[in-house]
Amino acid sequence: MTLIDPELLAILACPACAERPPLEQRGEFLICRACQRAYPIRDEIPVLLVEEALPLDALQGNSEPNETGKSQR
Ligand SMILES: [Zn+2]
Repeated sequence: MTLIDPELLAILACPACAERPPLEQRGEFLICRACQRAYPIRDEIPVLLVEEALPLDALQGNSEPNETGKSQR
């Protein structure tokens, strides 16, 4: 799986949210908790386009079930 550089992740922001909340990697997606969108990562490049985003619901059951307990920071 592609791991996005944490320093890169830190400067990325959801294009759909005016407050630009931090994104979080989950599998091959970057997710925005604020608007519940999942942005795909293609060829190690996060695709931060609202048109390309999936609803977070669409990822459930598709990837790992344990999403809360990970120590991200
Ligand atoms: Zn958002």
